[in-house]
Amino acid sequence: MKFLAPRGTKDILPKEASFYQELEQASRQIFFNYNYKEFRTPIFEDIKLFQRTLGQTTDVVQKQLLTLKNEGEDEFALRPEATASIVRAYIEHDLHLKEGFSKYFYVGPMFRGERPQKGRLREFHHIGAEAIGSLNPYLDAEMISLAVKLIESFGIEGYTLNINNLGCSKDKENWSKLLRAALKDKIDNFCGLCQDRFQRNVFRILDCKNEVCKEALKKISLKENHICSSCQDHFATVQEALKNLKINFKVSPFLVRGLDYYTRTVFEITHGSLGSQDALGAGGRYDNLISQLGGPDLSAVGFALGVERMFLANKKIKETKDSINAYFITLDKEASKKGFLLLNNLRNENISCDMNYEEASLKSQMRSANKSGAKFVVIIGEDELKNDSVTLKDMSSGNQEKIKTNQLLNELKNKL
Ligand SMILES: [Zn+2]
Ligand SMILES: [Zn+2]
Repeated sequence: MKFLAPRGTKDILPKEASFYQELEQASRQIFFNYNYKEFRTPIFEDIKLFQRTLGQTTDVVQKQLLTLKNEGEDEFALRPEATASIVRAYIEHDLHLKEGFSKYFYVGPMFRGERPQKGRLREFHHIGAEAIGSLNPYLDAEMISLAVKLIESFGIEGYTLNINNLGCSKDKENWSKLLRAALKDKIDNFCGLCQDRFQRNVFRILDCKNEVCKEALKKISLKENHICSSCQDHFATVQEALKNLKINFKVSPFLVRGLDYYTRTVFEITHGSLGSQDALGAGGRYDNLISQLGGPDLSAVGFALGVERMFLANKKIKETKDSINAYFITLDKEASKKGFLLLNNLRNENISCDMNYEEASLKSQMRSANKSGAKFVVIIGEDELKNDSVTLKDMSSGNQEKIKTNQLLNELKNKL
């Protein structure tokens, strides 16, 4: 029988893997410029960590965790996002005492348990950042500008940045009361999911993707201001900083994000080419999460960008060809023996090279050499063996010359 990759996962073939590498390398440089340090955590955690952080009521926990069960052990879940893991590790290693205010980035796979659909894989990749230990609004602006910088450096154009202010936890509480009051008599006009959300997570009604709910929301007036003055000031500074950086944004009062832990600034970057799952990435503040998980009372802000979504939104990605320096063509067993040893010498000197392992004709080996994109071809045949030499062919000019074997390394070093 033939096995297939599990539904909702995707093999990254070598051709595509080079895109991932480029993207990761470019993002590492950008994170370095902003002074963010890499953080690596396990890809699975105690399921309770996610239940606690994401909120029992959010959709992520309700149906989206991919879980692992091991006889006689606690239940684990593959991480659906990295924030909870990083906060868990930050507290576990007392980093608030050892390092204080810290800025981290991460790159890696995330998982969801729900049925796969277009734009929603079960295994996908995030590039993200977290900054822990400051309530400074300039940090919100830095996060947003960093996310935008990454997206632009990947060649993505035509994205939209939406931001909103959820306020502190008190403001959120006031707001949920106001929302419930405003929606109470009209909740029948909303979808079944939203009717369910009315009790457990009323904010999510605001960003329901169902057209029926979008229409019904237009008829609801929410004039009362639920944000306290300190949170209003905070948000005003964020907006002013973004304007100074000439970053275009829209304030979208219905942007709430799916996770319970967000407070104050939230943001989302969308792209029209992505269909209904149109977010390239999103983030926001989480000023109560660290204390909720048993850590100190510290504010934090972060974001994550979806790597697969960025590939979808980037029409300009071109195939790049990693080509090796030299390709060996050996014409008999004795030549292979010699070529194999030479390969080793060159590789030890950081000259990338390979040889043909198929024992094929000169013509077919030449085809493989062309396909490899090698800059030089080294041919070893009967004649070369007799004279302790090799034939070195420059693939761009087509010129070839016979040289002594012990000159090969220097010749290549000079020419590369
Ligand atoms: Zn507030
Ligand atoms: Zn709805």
